Amino acid sequence: MDFSQTIVAISTAPGVGAIGIVRMSGSDALAIIKLIFRTEAESTAKFELKSHQSRHGFILADSEIIDEVVVTAFLSPNSYTGEDVVEISCHGNPLIARRILSACLEKGARCAEPGEFTQRAFLNGKIDLTQAEAVLDLIQAKTEQGSQGALSILKGDLGKEVKVIREQLKDLLTNIVASIDFPNEVEQLSNDKIETVVEQSLTRLKALAKTARSGKYIREGLKLAIVGRPNAGKSSLLNCLLKVERAIVTDMPGTTRDSLEEQFDINGIPVVLVDTAGMRNTDDHIEKLGIERTKQVLSDSQLVLLVGDLTCGWQEEETKILTAIENKPWILLWNKSDLMPKQGGNKPDLDQCLAKTADANGSHPNRALACLSISAKTGHGIEELAKQIEDWVFVGGKPQEVGASLNTRQAALCEKAMEALQLMKKTLSYGMPHDCLATDLKTTLDSLSEITGVAVSEEVITAVFANFCIGK
Ligand code: GDP
Repeated sequence: MDFSQTIVAISTAPGVGAIGIVRMSGSDALAIIKLIFRTEAESTAKFELKSHQSRHGFILADSEIIDEVVVTAFLSPNSYTGEDVVEISCHGNPLIARRILSACLEKGARCAEPGEFTQRAFLNGKIDLTQAEAVLDLIQAKTEQGSQGALSILKGDLGKEVKVIREQLKDLLTNIVASIDFPNEVEQLSNDKIETVVEQSLTRLKALAKTARSGKYIREGLKLAIVGRPNAGKSSLLNCLLKVERAIVTDMPGTTRDSLEEQFDINGIPVVLVDTAGMRNTDDHIEKLGIERTKQVLSDSQLVLLVGDLTCGWQEEETKILTAIENKPWILLWNKSDLMPKQGGNKPDLDQCLAKTADANGSHPNRALACLSISAKTGHGIEELAKQIEDWVFVGGKPQEVGASLNTRQAALCEKAMEALQLMKKTLSYGMPHDCLATDLKTTLDSLSEITGVAVSEEVITAVFANFCIGK
């Protein structure tokens, strides 16, 4: 990719809209706009565009007016990319936007690659790599929580935190290296002092690493499975959560035949919800298919809701289902509390239920995260269920509060940095010479630099920006 060229792209979504925006960035952006734009009063030659000012006028191609537009200039370095940027707001017909794009191309601009505007902003030092990734998160956020979290990273909170940790460790490395190279001039740091800095950095990195879990759910959606005996109320719960009649509800056990995938939002968490067929042994072919899928869904899911029927209590079926849940995190829901208001308030005790599934040692390794009584019919307990899911997802804190929700790339680097710091702690505990510390400290610093993009390979940059849309 040649970053010296001026790029152009349609920045608005394809399709008809009120307005369309064609965006240009690069050293020739102003010269190109001068060739194709004129206001009513001025000729193109005389035309002047000041930074952060909009002008009304017309885009021309071969002396023919293509559209009536508003052109806004953002001059270098005070623009998104750091280069001269011109935005042409036209009428929202894709044909018009495409003709304006062609006019810019004809005068020397080239088509922007996906994410190239943001990539230029990164390469020109306007934003760090975490902020560039947050731009993508913001565009793709599925819920308000997602967009709020992305915004806080876009403000630079994550980058700042990583920088603070890196600076502290950089000082430590400088000290260690100086005391090795100039033992007579620079006093060697005590092991206690080094350990304190390492511990402080580890604590801060651990707090960041914790946000990776919720970051994943917020970006990709939490895969939630609903399982339970036939007629326990799984479809009704799904409907209750969706607040629309989507799944088939009947009185006949085993009639929820298909795994219905739904996407919605629980307290700001995008959820991919799968309503599964009842998990009971049956010879019915179609139902068997449903059961196979149930097992598949369980293996794919990240959180399981086991719906029990309060009027039946914990039976062998629930034990079987729990066995299939294996080690997945799960919540036990006692449904139909409206039918048994007394028991609803006094639901079967989780320990008693689990005692029935206990292994030879009398313990069940996978305790439920919570045991709630609900009514899919009246909505009782649904708010509490949503709260439980929210608390479980945001165990490391909400992104907008902690200023981070690490993505997979950042989380892997954070882990690498922490591993190297743990090795340093070991080295210190063995009383080894300080030059042994330098390698691990450098690994930590490299990983932290890669998170923010201070030092990052072209390959990583290409991978980060490959997911962007054209025009951003
Ligand atoms: P599934 O087979 O587990 O999907 O169960 P359904 O959602 O199809 O529900 C089975 C039956 O139980 C239907 O007649 C529902 O109306 C009823 N039902 C489900 N949840 C409740 C509830 O909370 N209270 C009452 N009274 N009935 C419920």
